[in-house]
Amino acid sequence: MRRLIGFLLATALVIAGVVWLADRPGEVTIHWQGWRVDTSVPVLLAGLLLVLVLFSGLGRMARLVLGAPARFLRYRRTTRQAKGYRALSDGLAAIAMGDGRGAAKLARRADSLLKDPSLTGLLSVQAATLTGNDAVLQLQAMTERPETAFLGHKGLLDLAVKADDRAGALDHGRRAFALNPGAEGLAVTVFDLQMTAGLWAEAEHTLTAARRHGGLRGADLDRRRALVLFARAEAALKADDAALALSLAEDARDADPRFIPAVSLVAELLRRKGKARKAASLILSAFKVTPHPDLIAVWRALGEAETPLDWVKRMQKLTEANPASCEGHLALAEAALEAHLWGQARTHLDKVMAERPSWQTCALLARLERDEKKDENAALIWMAKAPALASDSAWTCGACGSVAPGYSVSCPACGSVGGLEWK
Ligand SMILES: [Zn+2]
Repeated sequence: MRRLIGFLLATALVIAGVVWLADRPGEVTIHWQGWRVDTSVPVLLAGLLLVLVLFSGLGRMARLVLGAPARFLRYRRTTRQAKGYRALSDGLAAIAMGDGRGAAKLARRADSLLKDPSLTGLLSVQAATLTGNDAVLQLQAMTERPETAFLGHKGLLDLAVKADDRAGALDHGRRAFALNPGAEGLAVTVFDLQMTAGLWAEAEHTLTAARRHGGLRGADLDRRRALVLFARAEAALKADDAALALSLAEDARDADPRFIPAVSLVAELLRRKGKARKAASLILSAFKVTPHPDLIAVWRALGEAETPLDWVKRMQKLTEANPASCEGHLALAEAALEAHLWGQARTHLDKVMAERPSWQTCALLARLERDEKKDENAALIWMAKAPALASDSAWTCGACGSVAPGYSVSCPACGSVGGLEWK
């Protein structure tokens, strides 16, 4: 509609101009180089318009001819790029399908078309890893270019971890982390390598950098911070520096108040320092939240040279802090057995058996039958039930599944750091 209005307006203007000129006829005479031209004003104007149209047409043609090579190059570049990206995405699909050879071919094609190693480097490396061909050489070449250095070191780190080359892994891990401290999962790998190597201070720096760059956060970060501080506290204890050990253990507990090994260590060090009341109040408040046998062990150590009956009384106090906990009832039953308080032992063992039966509880019930009534048959019945039941929780390695006698930063069986869990 707009166009129609524009066209009608333009036509009206042209007609008005022609009528206006026709109403005002005039003669024009031009003398030039011995030539003489006689004509009217409308004819002259028409001639000028014709010349103008002719020149503009020539200009357009010249631009078309002169711009052709540049346009051709642009077209070629766009086509190459499109083909390159196609090869790249096809290559990634080949990786996903596990076709290493196809991926390697497409990686070479994408590389020659795109000429951008930061885009094609990862595909080349993944293809090389799948086919088992010179992945290390390719990754090393990548570490030399700033735009692919991170991917190169990260790839070499992964290969070294797979080959169990801890020194190589630590070296490439450090370099990759320095280039990109916020990379997902990298901080954890580097931290674990540093902890395994006993580099506590370096491991602490890794956590600080990871927190600043978002590589680790929340409970995961708190637990690892507690872990490194706990490791430092243990090292200080080995070096006979009890004051430093206590201060580090307190820091570990503050970093993650649910990290029971740190709480028990603080309580134990306070006990050794002669601050039994402080240690007791710490254990009581921790036991309310997490009724852990490690806390019971320190609680027991607090009562020096006490009789079995005294121990029952003190254990009752701890159980009252968390009456629902099976750990408390089990420890109380053991205390009662030692003090020959058979009825009390049976009450607590029955309670645990009803709520969380385990073979350890069966063993204590068998001991009760033997000690109280000398009833070997009843004891054997309990022992027959035991194998079908689960075991009580213990410090178990999440990596190798072995059970450790107590908590330690690294698994005594496989060396995995922070892997022991209470389960
Ligand atoms: Zn292990």
